[in-house]
Amino acid sequence: MSKINIAIDGYSSCGKSTLAKRLAQSLSYVFIDTGAMYRAVTLFALQNGYFNNKLSVDSLIFDLNKVNISFQYNAERQASDVILNGVNVENEIRTMEVSNHVSEIAEVKEVRKKLVALQQEMGRQKGVVMDGRDIGTVVFPKAELKIFMTADDEVRAMRRFDELRQEGDSISLAEVRENLKKRDHIDTHRKEDPLRQAEDAIVLDNSNLNQEQQFELALRWANERM
Ligand code: C5P
Repeated sequence: MSKINIAIDGYSSCGKSTLAKRLAQSLSYVFIDTGAMYRAVTLFALQNGYFNNKLSVDSLIFDLNKVNISFQYNAERQASDVILNGVNVENEIRTMEVSNHVSEIAEVKEVRKKLVALQQEMGRQKGVVMDGRDIGTVVFPKAELKIFMTADDEVRAMRRFDELRQEGDSISLAEVRENLKKRDHIDTHRKEDPLRQAEDAIVLDNSNLNQEQQFELALRWANERM
């Protein structure tokens, strides 16, 4: 069976990573969470004071060569952790502070250029399942399988809220709702590589589907394309 690339795009908190990870495991493919890469650049910007006053995009662009992002497999999670300049930042990039700033960082053309090039290199040999916002449109426009995920707004907010609560975050549902709304707006309206459904993507609305049902559907689509 020949290896393919699988692109999974969609709105925030639609369960893209959960599906991508499971699909990759079952096919023995590499799972790449591109949102984690944008989050790592955002963490770098936060750690280095770019948000103190107004985001200084110019200085961040100037310093982008100081941002080194890689992945390291974590057997316990059965997925890769993000490494920022040699430090494992997998937990730090999931905080609400990072979530609140990541879409501003992801609008910066030079940031996208750097990360897209890295992502394309990772998928050069095929056999990757990559999730994000522009995978089927920009990173791998020729991916053999493209899935565009969506779900009811309230279902997404509740899922993300439960996830954060389980991690010990004391966030309110209203804050989660607001963050998702803001990110979706920026992600779909930005000038550079906005989130949009590729013409040849299959829409997967999972408002009423459990993880097992989503996985079975996606696996069938993948097998049909190998
Ligand atoms: O997937 P996740 O929600 O972790 O992504 C965080 C943010 O990174 C998104 O809201 C979006 O602004 C940005 N992103 C992007 N392009 C990607 C992946 C993520 O712009 N391919």
